[in-house]
Amino acid sequence: MHLPRSSRSAALRGVPVRHLPLVLADLDRRRERVLGELHPTLEAKVRDLVDELGGRLTPYCGYRGPGEQAAALAAGASAARFGESPHNFTPALACDLVLDPRKVNVRPNPVDVEWPDLWDDETSSALAAWEALERASLAMGLERVNVGGRRDKPHVQMPSWRSLIVS
Ligand SMILES: [Zn+2]
Repeated sequence: MHLPRSSRSAALRGVPVRHLPLVLADLDRRRERVLGELHPTLEAKVRDLVDELGGRLTPYCGYRGPGEQAAALAAGASAARFGESPHNFTPALACDLVLDPRKVNVRPNPVDVEWPDLWDDETSSALAAWEALERASLAMGLERVNVGGRRDKPHVQMPSWRSLIVS
């Protein structure tokens, strides 16, 4: 499995592309799975959001179980324990999106430069995509949050999500 030469050169400037086909296949698989995990209202809004952003961002995380929540907490990606995050319910009341390297030039992952950085917050095209997500999600009535005093860039959630919990 490989990408045509033209889309390879267009996709990632400065990023080794050895793993790119794997990354893209995983992104496409995750998008479908994650959309299926979301509250129907959130799913519709996220689909609209992705369209409006020209596919520059793609759904990456919907439901987060106890193990994943503990890992996110330990990694500093979330400030919540299991049950405190809108990701911890079925259907999920929050969605995280990442950059799609087919649409946005991203830097190499700082930890392993063989992989693209789907959370790039340095490259100008990536910053423009995050800015567009901020504006478009707020315009759609979704909520944004800060973690540790900084915007949680990938995260959108339903307003008053606690009132939507189905137990
Ligand atoms: Zn999130």
